[in-house]
Amino acid sequence: MTTALVNPATGRTFADVPSTSIEETDEAVARALVAQREWARRAPADRAAALRSFAGAVDAAIEELAGLEATNSGHPIGQARWEAGHVRDVLQYYAAAPERLAGAQIPVAGGLDITFHDPVGVVGVITPWNFPMTIASWAFAPALAAGNAVVLKPAEWTPLTSLRLAAIALEAGLPEHLFQVLPGLGPVVGERLVTHPDVRKVVFTGSTATGKRVMALAAEQVKQVTLELGGKSANIVFADSDLERAARTAPSGVFENAGQDCCARSRILVERSVLDRFLELLEPAVAAVAVGDPLDESTEMGPLVSRQHLSKVEGFVPAGAPVAFRGSAPSGDGFWFPPTVLLPSRTDRAFREEIFGPVVSVVPFDDEADAIGLANDSPYGLSGSIWTRDLSRAVRVSRAVESGNLSVNSHSSVRYSTPFGGFKHSGVGRELGPDAPLAFTETKNVFFAIDDAPPSTPSPSTTAPSASAPSEETT
Ligand code: ADP
Repeated sequence: MTTALVNPATGRTFADVPSTSIEETDEAVARALVAQREWARRAPADRAAALRSFAGAVDAAIEELAGLEATNSGHPIGQARWEAGHVRDVLQYYAAAPERLAGAQIPVAGGLDITFHDPVGVVGVITPWNFPMTIASWAFAPALAAGNAVVLKPAEWTPLTSLRLAAIALEAGLPEHLFQVLPGLGPVVGERLVTHPDVRKVVFTGSTATGKRVMALAAEQVKQVTLELGGKSANIVFADSDLERAARTAPSGVFENAGQDCCARSRILVERSVLDRFLELLEPAVAAVAVGDPLDESTEMGPLVSRQHLSKVEGFVPAGAPVAFRGSAPSGDGFWFPPTVLLPSRTDRAFREEIFGPVVSVVPFDDEADAIGLANDSPYGLSGSIWTRDLSRAVRVSRAVESGNLSVNSHSSVRYSTPFGGFKHSGVGRELGPDAPLAFTETKNVFFAIDDAPPSTPSPSTTAPSASAPSEETT
C-alpha cells in the first residue's frame, strides 16, 4: 500500500510513499531495541560527538530539507529554511546532554544514595503534518541524547523531511536502526507504536481527540506519554498597550504557517475602549500578508496542507459569517484560503473551537477580570500573548491565564532552550528546555549501605605474611 503525496500549492500528486505494515513496525522496534542497547553502552562523549555530527549534516542539508518541506507541506521557503536551521540548533543543544545528564547524590543516614537516569529504551514518536521536521526534532534529539532509540511515524501527508532526516542521521554516523522513520497510517503504525510492549514511551503531537486515544491505549501498559495537543490561544490587548505594534504583529501571531499552528493566537481579545482603533490598524496589516507560491522568497503564507483540511476550515466561515475583513489569496489550483478576521459573539463556534487555519476572531472585553475570564473560558491552554505597558498588570494577568507558554508584548512561543507544553486539553508533559532529556529516562535510586566502623587494620608488624601468622579472617 502507498500514500499519494500532493503538493498543496498545485493540488497535484508528486510522489507515492509506501505505508508501513504492523509486521514491519514490529521488525523496526526489534531492530531499535538492539541498536539502543549498543548506543546506551557507548561513552557519553562518543554519543555527544555523533549528535554533533548529525547537527552538522543537517546544516549542510538546509536547502534540500527546506525545498522538500515547501513542496510537501506548502511552507514558504524562507520559513522552511528557518525550520531546518532550528532542527540543527535543537540537535546541537541536546548534543551536550549525554555528558551532562547527571544523577544526584542525596544525603541519607547509613549509606550513600545515588540517582541514575537510565534511558527508557525505545521511544515511539508520532508527529503531525503542520511542522513535520521541527516537532520531530523536539522529541528525537533529546531522546537520542538520553541514550534511547527512536521509531518515528510522521503524518500521512508530510513524511518527506522526516524520512530524509533519518537518512542524514545514518550518513552522519549514527548507528543503524537507532533512528527509524516509518511512514504509514495513524491507526496502523501509530497505534502499533503505542501498544507495542517494547516501546516504553510515546511522544504524540496532534489533535486532542487522537491524543486522548493515544493516552487511553498507553494506559493499558502503564506507558509514559508526552502529549502536545490543540490550542485556542488568546492574544489579549489592553488599552494601555503599544496598539500600533500589537495590531501590526497580530497577523504573524495567528497566520504564520497559514494558522496551522497549535500556538496560533486565534482569539484576539481587545479592551472595548480601543476596539475600533485596533481594527483600523489591523486591517492594513492583514491586507499586507503576502500569500502565494511557497517557492517565492517573498511569500509569507502558503496554502493549507490538503483539500480535506481546506474543507474543514471553510466550514468555520459559512455564508453570512461575521467577517470583518480578509486578506488576499491566489485563486485556482491549490488549497488556498485568505487570512480572515471575524467579529463573532462569545458563543460562536469559530471563537470557541480550534480551526487550525488562517481565521482569527476579535472579541472585546470590559476589564482585566473579564479578559482573564474570557482567556480561560476554553478547554485548551497552550499559548498566548498579553499586550500592556503596565508591568504589574502583565505579571497579574500572566499568572492568572491558564496556559503553558505566554509572551508579554510579543508573539514568541517556542525557543529550544525553554520548556514548551500545554495546560488542560492542550497536553501532558513538556518538551524542549534543559530538562527534556530527563523526560526520556527512568530515574533509578540506589542506596549503598555503609558500615560506620571501618574493618580493623592489621598493625605493620602483622602484615608480613609468615607461615605462623594468623589469616585476616581469623583476627
Ligand atoms: P489530524 O486530524 O490533524 O490529522 P491527528 O491527531 O489525527 O491530526 O494526527 C496526528 C498524528 O497522529 C499523525 O501522524 C496521525 O497519523 C497519527 N494518528 C492518527 N490516528 C492515530 C491513532 N489512532 N493512533 C496513533 N496515531 C494516530
